[in-house]
Amino acid sequence: MAHGHLHVEPVTDGDDEIAAALEDVSVPALTAVLVGLTGDPAPVRGPIRPRQWVHNEFQGALTEDEKALLRRDALAVIRSWRDAGCPPAKELDPALVHEIMNWIACEPVPDDYVAMYRDEMDLEGRNPRAIRLPDPEQVPLDPGFGVLVIGCGESGLLAGIRLKEAGIPFTILEKNADVGGTWYENRYPGARVDVASHYYNYSFGPNDSFSEYYARQPELYRYFRARFDEHGIGAHVRWRCEVERAVWDDDGARWQVTYRTADGTTHTASASALISGVGLLSRPLIPDIPGLADFAGPAFHSAQWDERVDLGGRRVALIGAGASGFQLGPAVVDEVERLTVFQRTPQWMAPNPRYHDQIRPGERWAMRHLPGYGRWYRFMLMWQSSDRLLELVRVDPEWPDFPRTANAFSATRREAFVRWIDEQVGDDPDLARKVTPDYPPMAKRMLQDNGSWLRCLRRPHVDLVNDQILRVEPDAIVTTAGRHEVDVIVMATGFRASEVLWPMEIVGRGGVSLTDVWQGRPAGYLNITVPDFPNLFILGGPATSLAHAGSVIFLTECQMRYVGDALALLAGGRRSIEPTPTAYARYAEDLQAEIGTLMWGHPSIEHSWYKAADGRVYVLCPWRLVDYWAMTARLKPEDHTVS
Ligand code: NAP
Repeated sequence: MAHGHLHVEPVTDGDDEIAAALEDVSVPALTAVLVGLTGDPAPVRGPIRPRQWVHNEFQGALTEDEKALLRRDALAVIRSWRDAGCPPAKELDPALVHEIMNWIACEPVPDDYVAMYRDEMDLEGRNPRAIRLPDPEQVPLDPGFGVLVIGCGESGLLAGIRLKEAGIPFTILEKNADVGGTWYENRYPGARVDVASHYYNYSFGPNDSFSEYYARQPELYRYFRARFDEHGIGAHVRWRCEVERAVWDDDGARWQVTYRTADGTTHTASASALISGVGLLSRPLIPDIPGLADFAGPAFHSAQWDERVDLGGRRVALIGAGASGFQLGPAVVDEVERLTVFQRTPQWMAPNPRYHDQIRPGERWAMRHLPGYGRWYRFMLMWQSSDRLLELVRVDPEWPDFPRTANAFSATRREAFVRWIDEQVGDDPDLARKVTPDYPPMAKRMLQDNGSWLRCLRRPHVDLVNDQILRVEPDAIVTTAGRHEVDVIVMATGFRASEVLWPMEIVGRGGVSLTDVWQGRPAGYLNITVPDFPNLFILGGPATSLAHAGSVIFLTECQMRYVGDALALLAGGRRSIEPTPTAYARYAEDLQAEIGTLMWGHPSIEHSWYKAADGRVYVLCPWRLVDYWAMTARLKPEDHTVS
């Protein structure tokens, strides 16, 4: 497997080109690279130190002079390294890696985080999350052992890569005709990731292919396609096969899977273990609005974009102002005759000037040529967001402004975000009022923003309607306050997130169905496994969405690590593994207790895809990343029944 991500393309550029490239890079990350190239800690022990993290700045508030000095030293080192033929970077002592982390972070990085980052960054190229099978000399692979994976999106592909690398036989059944899942399906104009590109990719393998800091859908699709090709996953996939049902056969210790192919016929397959990689955001939620079916023009969901429909010169209704609508509106506004945005709840936007920016050429060069640059850049991305931002939604019961804001931190962010709105539309109080949320930042999904949304809403041919939709007529949408004639309806109305694994039917030991076990309250031990459903592993299922800034790919990699431990037992001849009912119940209880300390499920938040029908939250990860990483780092035999 191509996990040696510190193997970079050798530098052949001249001194001037290198110097020019260094102007574009993050100097703290560059300095960390220098230590790796020379093994000499001097650059992080000198008088120049990053002094403070400014969100999305990546320079640690170094002055121009300080950056120039560090760049000058870097140029000298890189030149000699190039002239020596670009030998591999040195393997650094763990204490020195920790020292570099402290230097970049401008504060001591706690030991548990250091362990997580070292695993994530894998500076040594050891591929620590690979599945480790028993020594085949001692424990030969059970000849009947094989795995079925449902879905070839991010998590199913990850499973395929890990299985392939371990030499475990597997087949992936994918309902689409190609790889990518979300990034294959969501082809609406403007679709892009709003987690930084260099964090939203697998921890292994290269991350130098992105051209924008927040990559657009075609580039993300190509990213997954490239990993798929380079790992040779194609021979293992059956396309356009939609799994309908999976039944556990306790006698044979196998999953019997029924799936439908494109021609409508039904087939079966069986395997020792079943991995679901279908994700939470794959089944569109079509709103239940009276009259929708009788609309005369095209009406489609953002995830089922109809490329045949030309929006040019048409009156378009956009229902939904969540992450998808927010990207879609500005992307189509120039071509439509009229855009009417139906917004039920406004969303908080975090100002981010880089949101639509191209990655600077020198930074792309550094990702491609400087060993470890991409790893240290990722460290910075993770350090400044993720776990810190979880505190934004922690309920402070003493907080006087509750529940408009959740705590003191939440209040400062609210102030900054209100200022951001005011800067843009303060001269239009009616619009400002309509787009200002009355719930705390991050209590619903935050959006990255460079001003494109409010610029779009200010256009003369755009209306923002926040009255309740009553019905659809063949040529109009009718709200409590009026009738809006439209030619096309685009529904950016989200997904059936809490109906985990729907519409598949999963039947475990004794004929019990997962739907009956969950009864609308999806859960899993570590969000992955369920008692009486042996050898079933759910990636990206219950409590695996990240609502506090971070990459879901981090979570699925943690999950696959745990699954790998379980598969190693099965590959070595054990029949089945499942969590004990006690461990499952305890975990679910702890998880719900933790979610209860956060804003996401608070009754004051009326509409949110985070909430299930009973108003509770089952789909979000409430743990700090470092805690989930630790929970999944090693399979605990005491929490499982293995036969
Ligand atoms: P969403 O966040 O669930 O937004 C759906 C929108 O439709 C909301 O504005 C919702 O209003 C509205 N809506 C739903 N049912 C409605 C109804 N019956 N009547 C009127 N309005 C209705 O869905 P999404 O925008 O597709 O995003 C889902 C998630 O996918 C995101 O949170 C994110 O995790 C992911 N995503 C990410 C990106 C990215 O990385 N940039 C892009 C797209 C999606 P309420 O707010 O009132 O419920």
